[in-house]
Amino acid sequence: MRVLLLLLVSIAAADPLPREIVPEKAILVAQPDEEGRKVWHTRFFRIDSDIELRPNDLLRLAQVADTTATAVKAHPLPLFAPPQGSRPRIAIHARTSAYQEEGGAPGTAGMYLSRQALVLIQGDYLVRSPDAARSRLAPRNDEDLVVHELVHLCMHRTNAKLPQWLIEGLAEYFASAHAGAGRFSFGNMDQVIREHLRTRLSPDDPGIPLVPVADLIDLDGRGWLHYLNSLPVAERYRAYATSLLLAHQQLHGGKERIEALRLALSAPPSKRMPIALIAPETAAATQISLIRYWKPKGLTLEFAPAK
Ligand SMILES: [Zn+2]
Repeated sequence: MRVLLLLLVSIAAADPLPREIVPEKAILVAQPDEEGRKVWHTRFFRIDSDIELRPNDLLRLAQVADTTATAVKAHPLPLFAPPQGSRPRIAIHARTSAYQEEGGAPGTAGMYLSRQALVLIQGDYLVRSPDAARSRLAPRNDEDLVVHELVHLCMHRTNAKLPQWLIEGLAEYFASAHAGAGRFSFGNMDQVIREHLRTRLSPDDPGIPLVPVADLIDLDGRGWLHYLNSLPVAERYRAYATSLLLAHQQLHGGKERIEALRLALSAPPSKRMPIALIAPETAAATQISLIRYWKPKGLTLEFAPAK
């Protein structure tokens, strides 16, 4: 009896995700060209491209993509809900004009398009050109961006049921846990989130600039884009950082929050946000609890004053 009890306790206390997810050998099967585009199948995805990609770049992309899907699938909550009917699509465009014609927003390197159920990637961010100065981001950051957008694609059929801060926060949650080349480490989320935010926002001091929680909780997808556009480009990541900390709290901040999220995820597809996961009147208290949680872990959260 005692043994059984101990066993139950250890299951209840177990990490919600495997501590590590290591990529399997990449699978990449070339398909016939379609409309002048090269096409490949990975385990989960269809990749098509108008540029010749080097085998290593392509294999690495396949590995990052498939392991991202594996990681989202491994989560105990029903987050994994990719488009139905055909392989989820990753489309790579060499030219900025083609990228934007298909729906990529100017100034972005990659983007999930919900209506077309695909992830668009600008080719020059993917291919390691010998002219390294052209790449604005380190390869590691490029991959984290791909992970972020692919999480949206893997959650395609659940996104409509969630507030946008949570959709963005969950995508950043997986991107934080991504250690490069499709390896994920979920064993110490506090540490990977701290490193992720310090790297992006504040490499030299513990202060992390954030947007007010009250600004984000009511936004839908369109509202989110509008909000981002209202921020100076250099400050936009602050909205993602705030969402990441909120999503982490939703997943790790006690049974009630997890159950509220589970309920939201299992709502019928037509229902949008059956439960407000953060009530507007609790926004200020939420900020205080986040500040208290992260302070001893090495992050000093600095929320901008609410309007
Ligand atoms: Zn996103």
